[in-house]
Amino acid sequence: MGGPEIERLIFLFSKLPGFGPRSARRIVLSLLKHPQSRMIPLADALEQAAQKVKICSSCGNLDSNDPCQICSDSYRNHEVICVVETVGDLWALEKTEVFKGYYQVLGGTLSPLAGVGPEDLNLVSLFKRLERKEVKEIILALGATVDGVTTMHWLYDQLLPWHVKITKVGQGIPMGGSLEILDEGTLTAALTARRPA
Ligand SMILES: [Zn+2]
Repeated sequence: MGGPEIERLIFLFSKLPGFGPRSARRIVLSLLKHPQSRMIPLADALEQAAQKVKICSSCGNLDSNDPCQICSDSYRNHEVICVVETVGDLWALEKTEVFKGYYQVLGGTLSPLAGVGPEDLNLVSLFKRLERKEVKEIILALGATVDGVTTMHWLYDQLLPWHVKITKVGQGIPMGGSLEILDEGTLTAALTARRPA
């Protein structure tokens, strides 16, 4: 088509989630029409983010600061931690503005088939927080998938000795669904209507 630079761009975009070759061509064309106002700022933003964004050592969120903005916010409720699978889930819940505690991003779910075991989940910092004895409730906000449910049962057993209230979000999360794809209303309802795990 239009030379190796364009081919490379289309290839890179086509590897992004939600993109295929067709949508990659569309976005590359649209960018090429505005090199100064869109392409260069985008390239700059990508480089900045790649250099500055890191994983929060406290909760597993992505942020340009470690600890992240949420973990550094001392006005949040230290007594509640909401456990989620992915950073996308955290961001989705945060957008509802309902939850004012802290988060723990597992970075996945237990999955015997995919070879994901407890040691692969981001849990060390959760137990460190529990050791500080401030936490009174852990909300398990995991997806309603087979692996999500397996992980929830396993975590429940791990958390029992800590004598904290363990709740789970329920209502409105469709079977097989992850939190990330739900609308804010459904997420708010699921958080508010949490029940003992
Ligand atoms: Zn954090």
